[in-house]
Amino acid sequence: MTTRKQVLTQIKKMGCTVDEENQNDDFLVIDAPKGKVFACTGTHCLVEPLVDEFNPNLKRSDAYKEIIGDLTFSNIQSVNGLMDCEDPECDICHPAGNNMTDKIIKSGYGLLHKKTNKIVGFKIRSNDGGDFCNIERCELSLDEDNIWIVKDKITASYARVNSTPWYNADYESPAMDIGEPEEFEVVKIEITATPEIPDHIPTFEEYMNLKYNTPGMKYYDPKHYEFHIEQYRMGASCAPVSLYEIEELMKEISNTRPRKL
Ligand SMILES: [Zn+2]
Repeated sequence: MTTRKQVLTQIKKMGCTVDEENQNDDFLVIDAPKGKVFACTGTHCLVEPLVDEFNPNLKRSDAYKEIIGDLTFSNIQSVNGLMDCEDPECDICHPAGNNMTDKIIKSGYGLLHKKTNKIVGFKIRSNDGGDFCNIERCELSLDEDNIWIVKDKITASYARVNSTPWYNADYESPAMDIGEPEEFEVVKIEITATPEIPDHIPTFEEYMNLKYNTPGMKYYDPKHYEFHIEQYRMGASCAPVSLYEIEELMKEISNTRPRKL
C-alpha cells in the first residue's frame, strides 16, 4: 500500500514542491527544484494522474506507487530522480544575463590556404647548434593542426609575401615556403568558447546502482551489487568506471525510457 503521505515525503526529500494552485482531485502537479528537471521526463514539472479514464478500477495506492516510481526514476545523468537542466536558454533556471555566452579566447590574424580552405599552421624546428642564428626557427605549414595567429594584420600580410631566411625566422616573421602569395588570403581569426553544463558522470556507487540494482536493466542482480558495494565501502580500491562502460550503460538506458504521461 503506497499512501499519499509517502508520496509527499518523497517529494519533500527531493526538494520538490507540490503546485497547490494547479492541482485537483484528478492530478498531482509536482515542481522540480530550481536548476533541476525530472529524470523520467526531462521536464521541470510532473503532472501525475490520480485517476485513469481508461481504467476506472485504478486504486489510489497504485497511482501513488506509479508516482513514486516516476519521482525516483534514475538514468545515467540523474542523481536520485533529478538531473541538471541543460537548456542554456531555459528561463526558469538560466534567466537573461546568465554567464553561458561565448567567450573570445583568442583573436588575431592569420593566413587561409584558398584551395583547401585550411588555416595555415606552423612548425617549430631546432637550428641545432648553428652559428649566428636563433636556437629555433618557425616555419609556416599546411600539415599541422595548430593555427598560426598573430596580433597585427601587417605581420600576417608580410608573411604572405616574404619568407624570412631560416637563421632569422621566428614566430612573428616565419619561413614561408608552402606556396605563392596568391594562394593565400589574410584572414581575421577569432577563437570562441561556449561554456556548457557538463554531463553528470556517475560515481562508482551510482554506476553500480544503475547497472546492477535497477530493475529492468540487462545485468540486474542485486546480490552482485550488494557484494561489490560492500567491498567498496570497506575500502577496496577500484579504478574509475571507464568512459566506454559509462557510454554502454547510457545506451542501454536510453533504450528503456519509462512510461510517459
Ligand atoms: Zn531549466
